[in-house]
Amino acid sequence: MFVIAVTIWMRVKGLNERLRSFTGYALLLIAVVGILAGLFTYSYNFSSIDLYNSILSVLIILSIVIMIAVLVSMTAVLITVRKRRIHPFLLIPVKIGMKLVMPFALFVTGLFKKDKDLIRSLFIDINNLFVKSGNIQKTPDKIMLLLPHCLQNSECNLKITGDIANCRKCGKCTIGAIRELSEEKGVRAIVVTGGTAARNAIVKEKPELVLSVACERDLAIGISDVTSVPVIGVLNQRPNGPCVNTTVDVERLREKLDDIIEA
Ligand code: SF4
Repeated sequence: MFVIAVTIWMRVKGLNERLRSFTGYALLLIAVVGILAGLFTYSYNFSSIDLYNSILSVLIILSIVIMIAVLVSMTAVLITVRKRRIHPFLLIPVKIGMKLVMPFALFVTGLFKKDKDLIRSLFIDINNLFVKSGNIQKTPDKIMLLLPHCLQNSECNLKITGDIANCRKCGKCTIGAIRELSEEKGVRAIVVTGGTAARNAIVKEKPELVLSVACERDLAIGISDVTSVPVIGVLNQRPNGPCVNTTVDVERLREKLDDIIEA
């Protein structure tokens, strides 16, 4: 099987880098599973019933440990969200919930074609509590307000992605009010066209704290991807459907800024 896989890999090698990369990882997976299969075969042939019992005991203990960890992290998440703060003792179980239980929940909701946004919004909420628990306050010049392009009225032709100051504050969308807010607070506001542009803006501007507006999906992905700087997420509203003429509660943004700007 390994030889077949290597042959396939050799054949696609010169064709396409993505395919080469994919088949390379598949090959690695086959090799790992193959080694495991070899070890199991060896154990099967040469081991005593005592070894089987020991392996089963380890698996039983491992299952119990995982169940307890999930139960504790579930309880920690519930307490955290209800109390709106993370107790220092709950930091690790809540992190386990975010890193293990939530991806599993997203996988299962995807499998059954259910709405993933419920889980994502919980992830964003807990992330915000995490950032808040660090008592992070910064001067306005170290904070970046990151905004999605879909907040702009779709009929407005002004290029605000280059510079939000190009907005004439006509009142047809929330960009004008956000521009005013950012000027009032002295915080940089940057409008981006997508996740890659958002990451590039963070790399270029080097903020120490990001207040980001986006939908559940983009925020959850962005928060997971950007590990170099804390990101606080604020969900947009989508009265016209996704990605067009979206809005955001500007007063909520003001409250968040007041929370994070150093007095
Ligand atoms: S508020 Fe600014 S971005 Fe929005 S439509 Fe008016 S000029 Fe364009």
